[in-house]
Amino acid sequence: MGDDEYDVVIVGARCAGASLAIRLARAGVRVCLLDRARFPSDVPSTHGIQPAGVAILRDLGCFERLAARTDPIERATLVVDDARIEFEGATELLGAPMLNLRRGVLDAVLLEAAETAGAEVRTRAVVTGLCRDGGRVTGVVTPDGAVRARLVVGADGAGSTVARLVDAAKYCRTPAERVFLWSYFEGTEHPPGHVWLGRIGDHGYLASPTDGGAFLAVVAASRSRRDEVLADRPRAFAEGLRGWPELEAVVASGRRAGPLHTVPDRDGFFRPSAGPGWVLVGDAGHVKDPTPGQGISDALRQTTALAPVVVDGLGPGADLDEGLRRWWSWRDRDAWAMYWFARDLGADGPVPLLTQEVMLRVAADPRRREMLLKVLNHDLPPNGLITAPLALAALGGALLRRPGHRRRLLREARTAAVDELRHLRPPRAA
Ligand SMILES: Cc1cc2nc3c(=O)[nH]c(=O)nc-3n(C[C@H](O)[C@H](O)[C@H](O)COP(=O)(O)OP(=O)(O)OC[C@H]3O[C@@H](n4cnc5c(N)ncnc54)[C@H](O)[C@@H]3O)c2cc1C
Repeated sequence: MGDDEYDVVIVGARCAGASLAIRLARAGVRVCLLDRARFPSDVPSTHGIQPAGVAILRDLGCFERLAARTDPIERATLVVDDARIEFEGATELLGAPMLNLRRGVLDAVLLEAAETAGAEVRTRAVVTGLCRDGGRVTGVVTPDGAVRARLVVGADGAGSTVARLVDAAKYCRTPAERVFLWSYFEGTEHPPGHVWLGRIGDHGYLASPTDGGAFLAVVAASRSRRDEVLADRPRAFAEGLRGWPELEAVVASGRRAGPLHTVPDRDGFFRPSAGPGWVLVGDAGHVKDPTPGQGISDALRQTTALAPVVVDGLGPGADLDEGLRRWWSWRDRDAWAMYWFARDLGADGPVPLLTQEVMLRVAADPRRREMLLKVLNHDLPPNGLITAPLALAALGGALLRRPGHRRRLLREARTAAVDELRHLRPPRAA
């Protein structure tokens, strides 16, 4: 092998790319990990990491270093309009705490672990093209020359260059329904290791302490108010916080540190994610509405499943492409139910009356409260909690409690039932 020939070249060195590089390099695979960014650096994203993702970070040997930068989160307040759930004991129920760390911290720790594991790391290296041999991808092109490999991994985010170069067109797209606004605050008075998640009125919320002693507060405004929100973002952010007074009080106890960040357009999609000599992982292959905070854990889960497929597929006589196709099919099945759940959680406008009624029933029942946390942690499919009997009971209760909203409730129930049937299974991947 020459200097620029590897078993695997990975484009994108953040949670998807670096976590895959760690696993492959530890298995003895010769890996080159490229990213055009300079590290440490941030990405336009908030960063609540679900316990399932934290468990993978622990498995990768990164947890101690990350937990030294902020208190692990064991307690949560979840609010959906009048339904309120206080929860304590994430590790006991879900096997790990949540973490909330800026990407400048998380990605740098992963990148260092990849380098320590033996991956060749090249930052500020832009991939501009692919090498091909017949119909097969055999490497990447950078301004400094080609890097050849038996497998090219696109871990290069939602705007993936690798996806564009292999013509991986999006399928099952869903439009962005929220404008995300967030900022960091210093000197706030708040309990340690606590996260607030909510949908109140027209707004979505995520807030918790993060690294460096800062407090993160996110307001997600409805897309139908997009122009008004973008015309005066500080006003829209302040107005959003007013919708959850206890959160507003935490923020008001400190002072803002840094700018107000905005992401106005975040479409959901899947992309064909495997082909001859290439695979797409993390946001490059699939993006869902960020409201339930799944993307980082998704990337970590996907690379956990992908690494052994690559190791086996590189073995003598193995069919790497077939293994990758199966992994892609697994990725779609794994992401499918949560994709639509996230779309519903992030939907434009106020929470449907029927959902409010379901959530009141969940909040009133300790077993269902725990199930909701398992759904958010990707341990339980959403229809394991929101079963047909629960939905019917909620509909009956809502019709009695809100006789003036009969037509609206029946319309919501019909939409939910049709959606459930339409989204029973993902399309066949490959
Ligand atoms: C507003 C918002 C809020 C979110 N909040 C959360 C949350 O709270 N919790 C959560 O889990 N997820 C959240 N997400 C989702 C999360 O940010 C993504 O799922 C996650 O970043 C995906 O990681 P990745 O490694 O696949 O891609 P990315 O983090 O996007 O990394 C891709 C890397 O590829 C590099 N790259 C791109 N093109 C090239 C090229 N041509 N050559 C070389 N390098 C290249 C980039 O420089 C970048 O470093 C949020 C997303 C948004 C937009």
